[in-house]
Amino acid sequence: MSENPAVAAAAPQAEQSVTCAFCDSTDTELISLFGQALLASQYYCRSCHSVFEAVRWTAETLSQ
Ligand SMILES: [Zn+2]
Repeated sequence: MSENPAVAAAAPQAEQSVTCAFCDSTDTELISLFGQALLASQYYCRSCHSVFEAVRWTAETLSQ
């Protein structure tokens, strides 16, 4: 048993549309699985050409 819980949590369940933090566009693209924080992923917005971080997992993932 050497499975890393972080790896299991990183498996994408479904493609979610992430809203840009700057212009509210959903035309975004995942560029990095992990940002500065472990639970944050970096996205690139094709609409305003900005890079932002979005938290994809909430506390309910950890409570189960
Ligand atoms: Zn944007």
